[in-house]
Amino acid sequence: MAAMPAVKTPANIGKHEMKLVVMKFGGTSVEDAAAIGRTSAIVAGRVASGKNPVVVVSAMAKVTDHLLRAAAAAAQGDRTGALAISSRLRARHRDTSAELVKDKAAAAALVQLIDEKFDALDEVLRGLSAIRELTPRISDQIVSYGERLSSRIVAAAFCERGVAAAHIDAREIIVTDSEFQKAAALDDVIEKRATERIKPLVAQGNVPVMGGFIASNEEGLTTTLGRGGSDYTGALVGGALDAETIEIWTDVDGIMTADPRVCPDALRVRVISFEEAAELAYFGAKVLHPATILPAVRKNIPVLVLNSRNAACEGTRIISVAPHCQSPFKSIAVKRKLTIIDIVASRMLMTHGYLSKMFAVFDKHKCPVDMVSTSEVSISLTVDSNSSLPEIAADLSKMADVKYEGKKALVCMVGEDIRGQNGIAAQVFNAIRHINVRMISQGASEINMSFMIDEDDADEAVRSLHAAFFKEPDPAIFDVEARKRLSVVSGQ
Ligand code: ADP
Ligand code: ASP
Ligand code: MG
Repeated sequence: MAAMPAVKTPANIGKHEMKLVVMKFGGTSVEDAAAIGRTSAIVAGRVASGKNPVVVVSAMAKVTDHLLRAAAAAAQGDRTGALAISSRLRARHRDTSAELVKDKAAAAALVQLIDEKFDALDEVLRGLSAIRELTPRISDQIVSYGERLSSRIVAAAFCERGVAAAHIDAREIIVTDSEFQKAAALDDVIEKRATERIKPLVAQGNVPVMGGFIASNEEGLTTTLGRGGSDYTGALVGGALDAETIEIWTDVDGIMTADPRVCPDALRVRVISFEEAAELAYFGAKVLHPATILPAVRKNIPVLVLNSRNAACEGTRIISVAPHCQSPFKSIAVKRKLTIIDIVASRMLMTHGYLSKMFAVFDKHKCPVDMVSTSEVSISLTVDSNSSLPEIAADLSKMADVKYEGKKALVCMVGEDIRGQNGIAAQVFNAIRHINVRMISQGASEINMSFMIDEDDADEAVRSLHAAFFKEPDPAIFDVEARKRLSVVSGQ
């Protein structure tokens, strides 16, 4: 008797049968019909090369900002202003859809869907303008429309271009705690749902398309993963599905040696370790959301950062162990809008339990601390300027004298190859000797060197450091060819 073929359940549709690749496209990669057209072509190319893409998209560029502005206007009672923003967004989504989807039935269905979503959004904005209280929960409900809309439009555009897209509501897969606006992922639930919902769709030859950033708590209420959180969704889905790679498609060629907006001669980093990339993301390199690397590390999945406007470029490969680099640093990150808090408590500082009482204040206000430095009588810490500073200061002043000063920036130089090298700190501070440095730290990981300066000095500091440390970059690690091509074009 012939052996019965094994029954395929979602869980045993394995990696060897599917070549799963998670492809996350950021706001600029779906900003208008032309961008969505490029994105469709990139995904179609992956399908043609035998891969099984799972696509995660952000809201169209700037849509999240506009939605937040509409929410703020409504909360101040400006109903007309809030509805005007919504109406402009409705027109933008309708126009983009009309340009992309020509099939009559599909176009009509899409317009109806867009209108339904905007009608529902307007209802929330009207309610908010009457109640005038914007809770984190309502804020998440409002911003969620960005990704809910973009993912529908992208899925319809894919279908029109012959890519068999299957839309999934991300909120049914990405389950989080109830910390609205910065919710934490519940990995086990996500893994189960992704396996049950996404894998069968892929097995049937579909390309699942879902929104990033948005999620739901276990009661089904909409939550979000924090600004820039679509990268994190991509990584969560990649981790849950045990994908071959997680691709982050954006508007730059990869992770660069500095933010190219600040430093136009920044170079692409070809390869970087998980640890270095996580450090850069945490310390402000906007190209990656800080939590992106975690799911990738857990399953050892390479992350690629790629440019949807220059798809031929090989991008940056983030892997567990990066090759040795001749240059001490890989990249420079800047975290802005920080505040330094100075706490002065003569003789009390080193007494038993004092520090823990002090940190309990930050804990109470759910305020993460970035950098700490202590002396015998004082302690200085840096926190995000959006934190509830007056309340924190009031609580701290029960224990000590407290001063705080905003408009600070943390510059962070990252590179594994600084480990064990002498004289690097001297070179760093020599390069920025014209700038006043407030605090200095070298993390326990020994792969970063960070210091605090005035926000107004940040761009100048980055450019000076870049000029000093990336004069002769290691060609195995950095794309020096691009710099040569540029200098030929500009005749330098
Ligand atoms: P997306 O919308 O695709 O998620 P983001 O705007 O969040 O894109 O991130 C891409 C931007 O990150 C780039 O346009 C660039 O200005 C900024 N950026 C900051 N630091 C870096 C860096 N080290 N390398 C590359 N880009 C960086
Ligand atoms: N749309 C969200 C934001 O602008 C999430 C993202 O783009 O990653 O923050
Ligand atoms: Mg981003």
